[in-house]
Amino acid sequence: MLIVQKYGGTSVANVERIKAVAQRVSKTVKEGNNVVVVVSAMAGETDKLIGLANQLSPQPNERELDLLLSSGERVTTALTAIAIESLGHKAIALTGRQMGIITDKVHTKAKISEINAYKAKDAIQKGYVVVVAGFQGITDEDEVTTLGRGGSDLSAVAIAAALKADLCEIYTDVDGVYTTDPNIVPEAKKLEKISYEEMLELASLGAKVLQTRSVEFAMKYNVPVIVRSSFNDNAGTLVTKEDKDMEDIKVSGVAYDKNQSKITILGVPDKPGIAAKLFNAIASANIVVDMIVQNISNDGKETDISFTVPKTDSKKALEITQSIAQQTGAKKATLAEDIAKISIVGVGMRTHSGVAAKMFDVLSSHGINIMMISTSEIKVSCIISAKYTELAVRSLHESFNLDFQK
Ligand code: ADP
Ligand code: ASP
Ligand code: MG
Repeated sequence: MLIVQKYGGTSVANVERIKAVAQRVSKTVKEGNNVVVVVSAMAGETDKLIGLANQLSPQPNERELDLLLSSGERVTTALTAIAIESLGHKAIALTGRQMGIITDKVHTKAKISEINAYKAKDAIQKGYVVVVAGFQGITDEDEVTTLGRGGSDLSAVAIAAALKADLCEIYTDVDGVYTTDPNIVPEAKKLEKISYEEMLELASLGAKVLQTRSVEFAMKYNVPVIVRSSFNDNAGTLVTKEDKDMEDIKVSGVAYDKNQSKITILGVPDKPGIAAKLFNAIASANIVVDMIVQNISNDGKETDISFTVPKTDSKKALEITQSIAQQTGAKKATLAEDIAKISIVGVGMRTHSGVAAKMFDVLSSHGINIMMISTSEIKVSCIISAKYTELAVRSLHESFNLDFQK
């Protein structure tokens, strides 16, 4: 088999952990497999590098930021290859560029357009373990890019698809995908398997155990993904196509996301074209808008629009909104950063009614105010005050009987 193994930050946090990774790779090779390893930077390293840049500038140039951030994965890639070699295997470390990971030009959140994996394929054929730096790519103009936070998951899945690997294993600090973050709710249960669709919702709603785009990619190219712990040999969670028995369960997971901010534009003239103008301007700055709510205007003259954006883009989005407010005669634009998005997810919602109503009941019974709501076929999300995050996650988890789910 050809197996891609991705190791996250805590799994390569220090020399001891890197030795453990090398041992696991060695074992997998000895079992007769070809292995491609994808690594993240050491835990905390990417944040540290961002912190350094921010000490020098509040809005560092994103091209330079990408060059800086890509250094974290270079370190672990080389060290991991050295560790694997010291166990008597042939190993070669490759940067994103050497792996042929070609991306678009959108710095700090680039999209992979193609992978020219000939160097890796050649090395695999010669019996090497290939160790690739996650999170990074290169544009067709030779500029270093990064794939967005948590992007090593995407590197691994994309490489698995490009090499037609039999399996993509994501090694992290929890031993699978749980009904909610096990670090917040100790009663959370590990799922034996989860559909790509549910995993995609959970990930995009904040369950950072897998990066959203990595799940999209896995679904599109049908890459079997297993989430496992690098700290033990437990079985893990298989992310796979939906099957019939998955529909029996109404809610399969609860997610939270504290990395969103809410922008409100107040007193907007109630006439056609303003929302288009605002959201076109936001989109041109490559900012992804998540929820949008427009109030009904009482007098038919003015309305308010609220929307959420990633916290990292909130200052930029506020500036754009303020300038649109000025141009259109709106009263003002405000930013709220102390919010959280709480979501429940399950393919069973398609066939069960009353799930959203129950969620609102649970939140109100704890005195938690709902600021925004959005739904899809298989999820319900609410924006609430960030200080209630843990309370909301715990009580929803309990109320939907996830504490007892097998
Ligand atoms: P890595 O550095 O290995 O990529 P991450 O920190 O990105 O690891 O992702 C693992 C973390 O995801 C866990 O430590 C856990 O706190 C969090 N997490 C959030 N939701 C879930 C969930 N539903 N199941 C498992 N882990 C979750
Ligand atoms: N090191 C990068 C980050 O922290 C990529 C990753 O860990 O997947 O976002
Ligand atoms: Mg991660």
